[in-house]
Amino acid sequence: WAKAGGKGGWALFDPERNANEVARMHLSASMPAALESDEFYVDYQPLIGLRDDRVVGVEALVRWWHPEFGRLGPDKFIGLAEETGLIVPLGRWVLRRACQQAKRWQDIFGDAAPFVSVNLAVRQFRDPNLVADVSAILEETGLAPHRLQLELTESAIMGTTDEPFKALRALWRMGVRIAIDDFGTGYSNLAYLRHLPVHELKVAGSFMQGLRDPDQADPVDARIVGTLVDLAHTLGLTVTAEGVETQAQARRVAELGCETGQGYLYARPGTPQATTEYISDHLE
Ligand code: C2E
Ligand code: MG
Ligand code: MG
Ligand code: MG
Repeated sequence: WAKAGGKGGWALFDPERNANEVARMHLSASMPAALESDEFYVDYQPLIGLRDDRVVGVEALVRWWHPEFGRLGPDKFIGLAEETGLIVPLGRWVLRRACQQAKRWQDIFGDAAPFVSVNLAVRQFRDPNLVADVSAILEETGLAPHRLQLELTESAIMGTTDEPFKALRALWRMGVRIAIDDFGTGYSNLAYLRHLPVHELKVAGSFMQGLRDPDQADPVDARIVGTLVDLAHTLGLTVTAEGVETQAQARRVAELGCETGQGYLYARPGTPQATTEYISDHLE
């Protein structure tokens, strides 16, 4: 019986699970102080134009340098921050940091400067101060609004009430770019999409599995990506392929009509300095 019930059946007595729970609570409790004492930092990953190899944009990805646990990726703490609500001040901090960095690129590269793309958590998107915060941060940093992109997931957008839509429209009018992240993994409401103020779809990296070398390729994945690209283009949106790791995938997503690619093939998320060098090296 115990075996059939698996781990779930013993959940209450599972020492591993309890240890996890304690670690989670510990992490959660130490987050506000971590934000105060600058333990978070932002790495940047280029978004590459598939036609000319230039850096179109750069995604800001938050990390936590924890004094005990070392470097923690967002998958370890964003969910927790969402639960406690700390995501709102943490997200605002990432937004400000990313806009400051993008302003430096704006000063260095002028018209060729990439936009910076910042992930917004559901709670941030629903925060009534979002539009005012974004506007204030753009003002304060001097970053041109079209050099900021905000990434939202389908689940953040779908099934929300009218207020967040107003926020999206206000951001759009301000000139800020809007992208839908991890597209194709949620329950996309295609009818909704038609009326959304959005510039870009980011096709989820999970589809890249099936776009490997021709002998390992999954034709269904290719068809799905092709269909998402066609849909996006019908709606006047551009498409970024996430999680591009091989040349074969890069060729395939370009053939399928994606404008932009992001992934380890081009660059892993890196420091501002490494990213500045990468942008310089890909100007021509
Ligand atoms: P995401 O927004 O979809 O970001 C892309 C993730 O894919 C990043 O993971 C990136 O490092 C990873 N990635 C990039 N290229 C490749 C590739 O070729 N192969 C594979 N396997 N992975 C690749 P990361 O940095 O661990 O971030 C994970 C998620 O955490 C992000 O997914 C995003 O949802 C969330 N996140 C990161 N930063 C923030 C933030 O500042 N605020 C919020 N709310 N969420 C964030
Ligand atoms: Mg993202
Ligand atoms: Mg994504
Ligand atoms: Mg993701």
